[in-house]
Amino acid sequence: MDHFSYNQGRLFCEGMSADALAEQYGTPLYVYSRKTLEDKYRAIKKAFESVQTIIAFSVKSCSIIGVLNVLRELGAGFDIVSGGELARTMRVGADPRKTVFAGVGKTDEDIRDALAQDILMFNVESEAELDNIQNIAADMGMVAPVALRINPDVDANTHAKTTTGKKENKFGIDFATASRIVRNIAVQPNVRLLGLDVHLGSPIYTTTPYRDALEKVADFILEHRSPRAQFEYLNAGGGYGLLYRDQAVPSFQEYAEAIIPYAKKAGCKLIVEPGRSIVGNAAVLLTRVLYIKDNGHKLFTTVDAGMNDLIRPAMYDAYHFCWPTRSATVPPAHLFTSSDAVAYFTREALETQTGTNTREIQADGLVMTDVVGPICESSDTFAKARRLPPMQRGQLLAIFSAGAYGFSMASNYNSRPRAAEVLVEGDTARVIRRRETLDDLMAGETV
Ligand SMILES: *Cc1c(COP(=O)(O)O)cnc(C)c1O
Repeated sequence: MDHFSYNQGRLFCEGMSADALAEQYGTPLYVYSRKTLEDKYRAIKKAFESVQTIIAFSVKSCSIIGVLNVLRELGAGFDIVSGGELARTMRVGADPRKTVFAGVGKTDEDIRDALAQDILMFNVESEAELDNIQNIAADMGMVAPVALRINPDVDANTHAKTTTGKKENKFGIDFATASRIVRNIAVQPNVRLLGLDVHLGSPIYTTTPYRDALEKVADFILEHRSPRAQFEYLNAGGGYGLLYRDQAVPSFQEYAEAIIPYAKKAGCKLIVEPGRSIVGNAAVLLTRVLYIKDNGHKLFTTVDAGMNDLIRPAMYDAYHFCWPTRSATVPPAHLFTSSDAVAYFTREALETQTGTNTREIQADGLVMTDVVGPICESSDTFAKARRLPPMQRGQLLAIFSAGAYGFSMASNYNSRPRAAEVLVEGDTARVIRRRETLDDLMAGETV
């Protein structure tokens, strides 16, 4: 399912060699595989085929229009969280009837634009936001379709910065407030209550939090359904896990089997909002080694990508598998493609794993190094104490699983122009975002 592989010691994305791509387009470079996007989207679609489901791709996970367009062609809808993301989906000709709008701080302008575009619904995050949507829709002479985003107070057991469904998190509406809103919905004539929504956080490596949350949500729907609150849709959010290292990731089928029964029980159509699980393993970040430094205590490999290009290690302590694009020691495929990992992490293999770190490759001649970026922050570190083949200045390193929350979180920190992005389609590649120039860097500024 992931179309990245080593052939005779060289890394390929589909039919293109990573080295040739870096040579042609420079580094740092994001390289996306179209086939991987297609395979992941189709696998999710198939997993949910037994109920009517809108697959609303989470635009914030990877917002470049070259990728959004591929997903739109495949039939995806979109989950947006800002007016900017709305504009991106419009740019690729997305179907607004498959667009849902979440986010705790929608501005009046965001709301007006989305209403004018006739999106499927707003996922409303507070009573005050609902009042505001009611007022704006009334001004525009419209009826705004809404779902209430519920905060079910369920722990997703994920990183503190990416858990969203606990009562101490800023997201969603508690059940008691939701109940009051639904009972009083008649006083909001310009909103139409279409459904309930939950998103628990990301990445979530077990299906239990989904079951726990959706059981409460389905019960709420059955208890509160009325002519003014028909709850046509249950939105189960996103958050499915991704293979970053030696962890077991439930298949799309397993997530679907956890979610679908509650949609059926509540008599709803489904919306799901996957982001990471579609794009995460569909891109690598290619970076060139600038300097090697041995300070007598540690070996540092400094590369030309930084935390401004990929912030996940700095922000979430995230692990990204890294390996040179050319190497006599080729890592086992299950370490960097989820396709092989699915086969590798069968129940039996897991049982015999006994906690050993299978991502540490046992081979002669590897050296322990920290892979660091050029940015003036100690958190600008892609890998700590990693065993890698010895590298030299000029060599290329691939940072895997970089498609989700990679470029979409990139910044110009340290006044670094942002990287280029290319989309590989078989044995061709095209630039879907050119590398920024120094003029881009200062565009919009005045002295
Ligand atoms: C971020 C987000 C998602 C996507 O989460 P993934 O882990 O990328 O699947 C879905 N829904 C909402 C509301 C989000 O904020």
